[in-house]
Amino acid sequence: MSGSLIARLAAVVGAAHVLTDPRDTAPFATDWRKRYFGKPLAVVRPATTAEVAAVVRLCVEARAAVVPQGGNTGLCGGATPDASGEQVVVSLARLNRVRALDPVNSTITVEAGCVLANLQRAADEADRLFPLSLAAEGSCEIGGNLSTNAGGVQVLRYGNTRDLVLGLEVVLPSGEVWDGLRGLRKDNTGYDLKQLFIGAEGTLGIITAAVLKLFPKPRAQATAIAALRTPRDALRLLEQVQAHCGDRLTAFELFSALCIALVRKHFNVPVPFETAHPQYALLELSDTHAGEGLVRLLESTLADAIESGIALDAVIATSGAQAKQLWALRENISEAQAAEGPNIKHDISIPISRIGEFIETTDARLAAAFPACGW
Ligand SMILES: Cc1cc2nc3c(=O)[nH]c(=O)nc-3n(C[C@H](O)[C@H](O)[C@H](O)COP(=O)(O)OP(=O)(O)OC[C@H]3O[C@@H](n4cnc5c(N)ncnc54)[C@H](O)[C@@H]3O)c2cc1C
Repeated sequence: MSGSLIARLAAVVGAAHVLTDPRDTAPFATDWRKRYFGKPLAVVRPATTAEVAAVVRLCVEARAAVVPQGGNTGLCGGATPDASGEQVVVSLARLNRVRALDPVNSTITVEAGCVLANLQRAADEADRLFPLSLAAEGSCEIGGNLSTNAGGVQVLRYGNTRDLVLGLEVVLPSGEVWDGLRGLRKDNTGYDLKQLFIGAEGTLGIITAAVLKLFPKPRAQATAIAALRTPRDALRLLEQVQAHCGDRLTAFELFSALCIALVRKHFNVPVPFETAHPQYALLELSDTHAGEGLVRLLESTLADAIESGIALDAVIATSGAQAKQLWALRENISEAQAAEGPNIKHDISIPISRIGEFIETTDARLAAAFPACGW
């Protein structure tokens, strides 16, 4: 049965796009953190929505489970097949075209396998911003971002991936194509079905394309890192920056001294303070108006924060290169943790106002239960 399924899959996508040799399937059979190892029956690489639909129909007929896979950067094993040798990985990597860009509607229609960085570039070339941004953007694909409802570093201002979507095209488990590829800016029809597929990790269907919102491109950015005593102080800083800067605040990322130490150790990224501090917040302001005003606004906001005792110190990037270095402190955290050894991933969501209390309580409990663990 498996032989005939493989032959039928090859008839749909071409033999070169049905991988069965373990040397070829290995990269698809394990996750980014190398925590899970599976054994797929085959890895199939369709290039069109019609091919995805035909592949799903064949797998359903053969009762072979389907595991959709995008860039395989997910951190909880959802894209890894099990070890039964019976599951078919459907890689969306070849379904990677930008189908349309509508500058007036400010939307882009892309296929699921479009790598996030390529999507950002296509928007940029049209003088627009696609704001989803995360450290895995060079490999992760928009279908994976949608299926994990990824957050990224600008979630504060633009929301989760869910908030960036106007329409979807999905291959259902029946092999039918659900065409919800609408780009309506005002859509007050009921039952927002597309939202069911977002964050569903492929359990309800395979996303093959999406209509996404674009935004005006920022003309000015100001980036800074603030040193802080506690996560509670970070919340006070956030409140103060929001009060002074409004929705020009596009990123606010809090991380501990331990994260910085790991990034320094494994990536040798320079830290712009002479002494270590318990906590750090990386801030970015963005504005569609060009000019120096944004840097001055950030300077005065952080000076106030230091004067009022909320922040211990702060450094504002004076060049694009320095801003990149500050971001490298944040963006290398996951990889530095992976290089250090086994670590437990978590992606928690709680009201912003309770983050300080949550971190303090959790740190204290972890230290009591596992005195040797870092936090
Ligand atoms: C260094 C690093 C930094 C990260 N930073 C962040 C971050 O800041 N914020 C954040 O939210 N996440 C972050 N992540 C995790 C993030 O969720 C993933 O990187 C990304 O969204 C997954 O995309 P992918 O294409 O790699 O999906 P995959 O890993 O391939 O798949 C993820 C899940 O989606 C399913 N899937 C994939 N494509 C489809 C499709 N077309 N249709 C249906 N189901 C599909 C898979 O079956 C799986 O369940 C980070 C990961 C890394 C490695």
